[in-house]
Amino acid sequence: MRVPLNDLRRSCHRDGDAIAAAMTRVVARGWVLFGPELTAFEAAFAAYCGAGHCLGVGNGTDAMELALRVLGVGPGDEVVTVANAGFYATTAILAVGARPVFADVDAETLTLSPAALADALTPRTRAVVATHLYGRLADMDGILAAADAIPVIEDCAQAHGARRAGRRAGSFGAIGCFSFYPTKNLGALGDAGAVVTSDPTLADRLRALRQYGWREKYVVAELGGRNSRMDEIQAAVLALRLPSLDAGNARRRAIKERYRAAIPGPVPGWATPIGQDDVAHLAVVRSPDRARLAAALASAGVDTAVHYPVPDHHQPAVRPLLLGPVNLPVTEQAAAQILTLPCFPDMTEDEVGHVAAALAAAWVHPA
Ligand SMILES: *Cc1c(COP(=O)(O)O)cnc(C)c1O
Repeated sequence: MRVPLNDLRRSCHRDGDAIAAAMTRVVARGWVLFGPELTAFEAAFAAYCGAGHCLGVGNGTDAMELALRVLGVGPGDEVVTVANAGFYATTAILAVGARPVFADVDAETLTLSPAALADALTPRTRAVVATHLYGRLADMDGILAAADAIPVIEDCAQAHGARRAGRRAGSFGAIGCFSFYPTKNLGALGDAGAVVTSDPTLADRLRALRQYGWREKYVVAELGGRNSRMDEIQAAVLALRLPSLDAGNARRRAIKERYRAAIPGPVPGWATPIGQDDVAHLAVVRSPDRARLAAALASAGVDTAVHYPVPDHHQPAVRPLLLGPVNLPVTEQAAAQILTLPCFPDMTEDEVGHVAAALAAAWVHPA
């Protein structure tokens, strides 16, 4: 048996008839941008997240760039973020001309450490980007307390629906940013993204910024505008998939829990049963002998990957921009140990069992 890391054919085929009907509806209407499909999805997703407003945009990276812009972040400003989340936030920070300042992550969750955040703040800090990595909510209480008056943007691209104390990802900080890249927990048929916020002023300004800064057609009320739109077909697909997001998340959690149970003894990063604050976007184990574990899984037919192999501060394009040495011991160690296992809702029981058995057989505990 060969188990892929993901297989988009399965979700596309499962939804195929509904997707075809949605596309036919959009084509029949002949209204392809800023129409009723987007309005309906924005309302549904805002309600789902428990946010006052949702605005569809082109992709998740744009969502973060627009969030930084609307908060007034620009040249000379610093934005504190993590270095282990795939460089997306750093791309957005650099795009607005600001400087990324990397803070270390918590050793258990690999999300932004509130203590490290507190140490990274300077008088030039204008915003914080906290990533809910692998589907697990960051410690938002601790992060918001450490950030104090500095606005916190949540990168929710891996955490659609993650919930703590009755609140969902995107509703804790000033602005929540989502990607609907096809492999995300809520995925489109191409690129799409969204920002959510409960601040009506920010929402109005974001509405302008995503379309050239227009308040109305051809009237530019906001500087820094761009063109970043979610089209009607993507909105229609997302609206039809949203009702099954919670079931997909539950399935992902069950798969990750199955792996957790298969490994004898404690698993670094998986100390507690997978809870509602984790939507298991990725099932990531940590092993001091990753190469051997990956090879053993590969020989059992199990595909694996590393999310992400190169921390942001080691990316060749960024090194010249860094002010001084960056000290991120938890980030560095994790980058050398993390390994992503197959985890997606359309996996068969046989596949999940096969991965669990291969993992149990290959796992070696640190001495
Ligand atoms: C996928 C992802 C993004 C970027 O989303 P795009 O839609 O591809 O721009 C941002 N942050 C994280 C953590 C992601 O996983």
